[in-house]
Amino acid sequence: MSLTPRAFAALRAVGATLVDGAEEADLAARVAANIAKLPRAADRTELDLLLRLFESRVVNFCIAGIPRPFSAMSPAQRERYLRGWATSRLPPRRKAFQALKRLVTVTHYTTPGAGRSIGYPDPPGPPPDVPKPIRPLPITTDTTLTCDVVVIGSGAGGGVVAAELAKRGKDVIVLEKGGYHNEADFTQQEGDGLERLYDAGGLLATRDLSLVILQGATLGGGTVVNYTTSFATPEPVRDEWAREHGLPHFTGPEFTQSLNAVAQRLGVNTEHAAPSGRDRVLIRGLERLGWHHGLLPRNVRGCTQDDACGYCGYGCRSAAKQSTLVTYLADAVGRGARVVVNCDVRRVAIAHGAASGVEAQVRGHQLAVHARAVVVACGSIHTPALLLRSGVDLPALGRFLALHPATAVFGEMDEAVRPWTGTLQAHYSDQFADLDGGYGFKFETAPIHPSFLALAAPWESAAQYRDRMARLERTALCGILLRDRFGGRVSVDRDGCPIVDYRVSRYDAAHLRQALARAAELLEAAGAREIWAPQARWIAYKPGAVGAREDWLTRLDAAGWGANQLLLVTFHQMASCRMGASARSSVVDPEHRVWGVRNLYVADASVFPTASGVNPMLTIMGIAHRAAQVIDTH
Ligand SMILES: Cc1cc2nc3c(=O)[nH]c(=O)nc-3n(C[C@H](O)[C@H](O)[C@H](O)COP(=O)(O)OP(=O)(O)OC[C@H]3O[C@@H](n4cnc5c(N)ncnc54)[C@H](O)[C@@H]3O)c2cc1C
Repeated sequence: MSLTPRAFAALRAVGATLVDGAEEADLAARVAANIAKLPRAADRTELDLLLRLFESRVVNFCIAGIPRPFSAMSPAQRERYLRGWATSRLPPRRKAFQALKRLVTVTHYTTPGAGRSIGYPDPPGPPPDVPKPIRPLPITTDTTLTCDVVVIGSGAGGGVVAAELAKRGKDVIVLEKGGYHNEADFTQQEGDGLERLYDAGGLLATRDLSLVILQGATLGGGTVVNYTTSFATPEPVRDEWAREHGLPHFTGPEFTQSLNAVAQRLGVNTEHAAPSGRDRVLIRGLERLGWHHGLLPRNVRGCTQDDACGYCGYGCRSAAKQSTLVTYLADAVGRGARVVVNCDVRRVAIAHGAASGVEAQVRGHQLAVHARAVVVACGSIHTPALLLRSGVDLPALGRFLALHPATAVFGEMDEAVRPWTGTLQAHYSDQFADLDGGYGFKFETAPIHPSFLALAAPWESAAQYRDRMARLERTALCGILLRDRFGGRVSVDRDGCPIVDYRVSRYDAAHLRQALARAAELLEAAGAREIWAPQARWIAYKPGAVGAREDWLTRLDAAGWGANQLLLVTFHQMASCRMGASARSSVVDPEHRVWGVRNLYVADASVFPTASGVNPMLTIMGIAHRAAQVIDTH
């Protein structure tokens, strides 16, 4: 669907108001193209309606006392109007503003060359001219295939389970919704990387847009784009899962062996933790305050840890990152596994209480795969969606979605941090990881490219926003990763697309507030000149004056912690098909079988009983490694 002419006229005016200096019609056309690619028809229709509403004199008179279409307002009126939406007391208006701000500013700043105006250089040179060793099976007509095990999804869970089952002699087919992109394709241009490697081009969010959901959608899934942090599952979390969820194997030697096996295959080590400019700020703050910090274990081999590393969220060009693409999928293919890409699995075929294969679409062609076992590993948003589309009916399905809601406090430094460069993540702090029975928050950093700053920077006027973006080079952050206690829910709309509902609980919000206060303290200790939070309003302070931080916190409280008042992002989705001891409260049994459906298994982050509290990749892989062993015995 393309936008109606009236909506497009409003979009042109909105774009020009949010971002000055952009070529108006061109920016609007690119934003409209991104709207047309949004996965849910309902979201596309809603945006068209919203933009048409902006052109209504009556609505604008009632809302802002300006009886004109938005496109006919003066520049000052337009800015006042949009500010009103950004900080409205009404959640639907804040949601509408965020939808437009994200689409417009991220589209603008991820256009090749647009970063130069804010001192962000183009990625370093073209991708290397290297071969593509995996040969995906071409599907050029309606096709039926047969195998022992079909694995849906090729990320942390799917990649490992496919390789381990192929190693045990099974005839395996891997079906992946994303395309096959390797080092030769990693342009590391933000717009291109988001579109080709991330789910929904990086624009996936909860229904109310209060949380941005980042996840990979390419062969190798999240392991291709992720930041390589490789923590083993913490012992207290293993104990909790064993004790409170009736899953004793999590504390047994079998799971330890699986964790060790995957860590070895990925080459996890702490010898590649050269601090980036961002890490140096983090470490300085932590050391001055005497708080805990440690080296991050990373799944890399021969990582250069130089400026170019910071771009690896858009794929590692030197294949130093040990994604499933270069490890487990390569192993699986080496043992005869077949791989189909651009393959959207629509349903698991289930009859008489047993799964017998899947139905998928590959670029307009129907693909049916008949298999003795079906392993779903589409990640914690798409796995429950696929099971729901397939008619699985369990009370816990899609519920208990756990996240590590992430945000950051930003500091303007005297030094050139160049926060898009250097090791993806090198250091962390667990000073506040256990505030209450294992719940709390971690501090880490993450590369800040223009899209990230565009999301985080509050918008109050085009000039103020441009000024903030232009300070990218000197911007540091203290990233906050919260272990949530109370989760959300994944359901599907009538087209079968996932809808995510998630509200930060009062309990988790209290930890979040504390995290922001401590992060600001850290940046102060590190020497930040000005400190701000990614709230809808610009709320900053300059350290030095007595009580400045406390006053800042009071102003944050007054601005509010509700939906779309503070930027929250999730990189870690878990537990939406959790494993447990009963069909009433979980989706899979301790051997990964979906309750009540024979031959149907789940092996990804969605089977976590709760949030892992640490970056989850290694835990997912350990779980998938064990899953392959138990599936093999069935
Ligand atoms: C930017 C970023 C940085 C991160 N950094 C870290 C880190 O440093 N350390 C860490 O531990 N974790 C990190 N993570 C998280 C980690 O990568 C994920 O938790 C992990 O990849 C999830 O594994 P999974 O198997 O559950 O799903 P995924 O790896 O997401 O794989 C699921 C795959 O299934 C495919 N799929 C979905 N639906 C269908 C369908 N219907 N048909 C066919 N295929 C389908 C998807 O395209 C995807 O490729 C990061 C994530 C992101 C986005």
